[in-house]
Amino acid sequence: MIHNFNYHRATTLKEALDQVEKSKEDYKIICGGQSLLILMRQGLVAPENLIDIKSVKEMRYIDYDPKDGLKIGATTTHREIEKSPLIKKYYPVLVEMENNLASIQTRNWGTIGGNLAHGDPSSDPAPILIAANATVKMASQEKEHSLLLEDFFVDIFETALNEGELLTEVQVPILPKKTAIVYEKFNIIKNHQGIVSVAASITMDQDGDRCKDARIVLGAAAATPLRAKNAEKMLSGKKIDTKLLENVGIKAAEECDPVSDIHATETYRRDLVKALTIKMTKKAWEHAKATG
Ligand SMILES: Cc1cc2nc3c(=O)[nH]c(=O)nc-3n(C[C@H](O)[C@H](O)[C@H](O)COP(=O)(O)OP(=O)(O)OC[C@H]3O[C@@H](n4cnc5c(N)ncnc54)[C@H](O)[C@@H]3O)c2cc1C
Repeated sequence: MIHNFNYHRATTLKEALDQVEKSKEDYKIICGGQSLLILMRQGLVAPENLIDIKSVKEMRYIDYDPKDGLKIGATTTHREIEKSPLIKKYYPVLVEMENNLASIQTRNWGTIGGNLAHGDPSSDPAPILIAANATVKMASQEKEHSLLLEDFFVDIFETALNEGELLTEVQVPILPKKTAIVYEKFNIIKNHQGIVSVAASITMDQDGDRCKDARIVLGAAAATPLRAKNAEKMLSGKKIDTKLLENVGIKAAEECDPVSDIHATETYRRDLVKALTIKMTKKAWEHAKATG
């Protein structure tokens, strides 16, 4: 049973921020409602004021610029990302990920801003965006600022968003030459949230001979999406071979900090991290060698 609340529909960012200010800390932002309504139905969240930003059109866009890269407004839906020709051309891994995220109905309502602001460690977009070195933009009545997405997740369902702030934009830089990003989640039921997921980004040197840079980001393997930095270091500057990738997988499994729950035990999740890390780094390596 959902508690009574005051409903406010904002049509501009200013209106939303003004309403946030008026609501004196007893409010929740709602966008697609795909995550929040579940918490409200369970009585885990009972705000006095619900501020709906779904109609804030100025936050709903997908722009690409060859210098600055990709900018996605926070109220852009998963479905819009999935169907974007720009994203398909420059960041195809995001389209593939969206194809496997929930049902079309959820993708039609759920937004990128809501997904990240929810702070779920099993978010699908988060590992890929961190692998791509994305930043998020936040705004309050006082100021606007940006933060690397990898620093945005603080704890389980807790983010760096301060009281009074809205997430307004996701920015993804241009990928360096000879870079490939790949992602896979392991789940039992198709399109459900992953039991574990891994995104890998590999940048090869000019000759395609050695790994110049690597990012390995684990989903649902700790309280927040997690970079396996020790595993990444094993690849940097190295010639990649299958033995090295096997050891990288072992290192990532050591670095993660998964829980045991009804979906899987901690040990099972670590085994999945190892297997998916080996698979994803191999795939990213092969794709990076083949790209311009
Ligand atoms: C059946 C089902 C299956 C799902 N499967 C997946 C899956 O496979 N992978 C996956 O990643 N996710 C999955 N999800 C989660 C869902 O896709 C995301 O949570 C969704 O993107 C949330 O967006 P929303 O706009 O609906 O957020 P809301 O539910 O409206 O809000 C979520 C939270 O974010 C806050 N918020 C929203 N927008 C902003 C903003 N701009 N600034 C600040 N705070 C904000 C809200 O206050 C709330 O705390 C699933 C959800 C459902 C219901």
